Amino acid sequence: MTFRSYMETALAEARAAATRGEVPVGAVVVRDGEVLARAGNRTRELNDPTAHAEVLAIRAACAAQGQERLPGCDLYVTLEPCPMCAAAISFARIGRLYYGATDPKSGGVAHGARVFEHPQCHHAPEVYDGIGGEAAERLLKDFFADRRDG
Ligand SMILES: [Zn+2]
Repeated sequence: MTFRSYMETALAEARAAATRGEVPVGAVVVRDGEVLARAGNRTRELNDPTAHAEVLAIRAACAAQGQERLPGCDLYVTLEPCPMCAAAISFARIGRLYYGATDPKSGGVAHGARVFEHPQCHHAPEVYDGIGGEAAERLLKDFFADRRDG
């Protein structure tokens, strides 16, 4: 199925992030079947705590479009977005959010702040979770297990 392949792209970005020593999370912005931007975490590389995959993908897609918002776009991300990224997704007017693994510790969609359910949230995307979640979760577990061992 089509949505599967975009999550595969996001997973590829997550794997690439892991090889850079970054927490393995990847994101892709898609519109009408076209990939506008793809990114993985780069917080360490950029010394930037906001350089999450979703934020980088949204920034790149906006820059490519010359727009401050991305209506009609879908965002695929391997992990449940944190509150910061959920807010960015709302500000960007992303139409549909597909995410893989759930994140009870730091997620802000189904957990914690539940940004899209908050009365102050002016735009909430349609949310589809659990897509490719197993692969995304394994990637994260392996990454943190390696770090502990090393
Ligand atoms: Zn985030």
